[in-house]
Amino acid sequence: MKVLILGVNGFIGSHLSENILKTTDWEVYGLDVESNKISDIVDNPRFNFVKGDVTVDKDKEWIEHNIKECDVVLPLVAIATPATYIKNPLKVFELDFETNLEIIKKAVKYKTRVVFPSTSEVYGMCTDEAFDEDKSNFILGPTNKQRWIYSCCKQLLDRVMWAYGFEKDFKFTIFRPYNWIGPKLDDIYTTKEGGSRVLTQFIGNVLKNEPMKLVNGGHQKRCFLYIDDGIKCLTKIIGDKSGVTNGMIFNIGNPKNNVTIRELASRVRKIFYKHPIIKSTNLIKKIDIEDVSEKIFYGEGYQDVSFRVPSIKKARDVLGWEPLIGLDAALRKTIDYYLADNKFSRKVVNK
Ligand code: UDP
Repeated sequence: MKVLILGVNGFIGSHLSENILKTTDWEVYGLDVESNKISDIVDNPRFNFVKGDVTVDKDKEWIEHNIKECDVVLPLVAIATPATYIKNPLKVFELDFETNLEIIKKAVKYKTRVVFPSTSEVYGMCTDEAFDEDKSNFILGPTNKQRWIYSCCKQLLDRVMWAYGFEKDFKFTIFRPYNWIGPKLDDIYTTKEGGSRVLTQFIGNVLKNEPMKLVNGGHQKRCFLYIDDGIKCLTKIIGDKSGVTNGMIFNIGNPKNNVTIRELASRVRKIFYKHPIIKSTNLIKKIDIEDVSEKIFYGEGYQDVSFRVPSIKKARDVLGWEPLIGLDAALRKTIDYYLADNKFSRKVVNK
């Protein structure tokens, strides 16, 4: 099987490619503007990497050719950080919606199957205890809260694919990640405040000797899923030969790893304090946790989601998938990665 991954150097793309090469005999065709996260696999003969940009015409030709040649395409290029939804909502619309729509239309044209990353954000402020892919309502805030542009872009793409499936027999499967965490999530040295996902924000805070900041007291809850669990599920979806996943939507999250952001900060702090590298270097003596208002942290266009729990019944029943990695293990593995990262070692040396 030939798998085309656009955004192959991203958090999901890089882990997925690694797993495909390790556990299957498939070939990966990947495009990305960067290659720092795929250095371990770039020389694999079944990994065909091209440096390129999904928004550039020259690269669009390569994309079209490979959509035609490949069995399945995963359009993973998107902005997925809440701070950007607020600061640059148009950039989110152009990349996440317009560019991906072009890709989906090409897949429709060549009858190539699409496995598409929707988002748990589509459920917005849904009040269901556990969000169900086929029953839960989507509850988004007003237009002047531009945080919802991401959710809205993804939702419309989900609906467009659904419509192509309904009217034109287009083959697709949609997955909705719930706060996936793990190594290579975000670059903690280049992101500005609010510029990365909460865990990488906290790890970056600690490594830069800054306090971790709890937006609105950190009472909001999220279910965190370790990347390896997510990738296993995704690989099963991609490898579905029977067509059973066609036209289906899957939540991919871990309902057991459901904690408040305050609890997350406290667990992160505990792991750092106990970590052998921190103990031996003595670089971090005290880790503070502070409260901050959403207005100061994100700006006027923000509105938060207070809880977000997936129903994973469908992934269990159809794919036989179950997330296995608990929150502390997931946090430890992620923190280990960022501590072992060369940039941190260099920082230690430079101090
Ligand atoms: N958050 C926080 N401090 C930070 C970054 C985020 O308290 O430094 C909060 C944010 O307001 C949200 C939650 O953590 O309620 C998760 O944020 P994230 O950006 O990871 O993504 P989301 O789950 O909201 O899409």
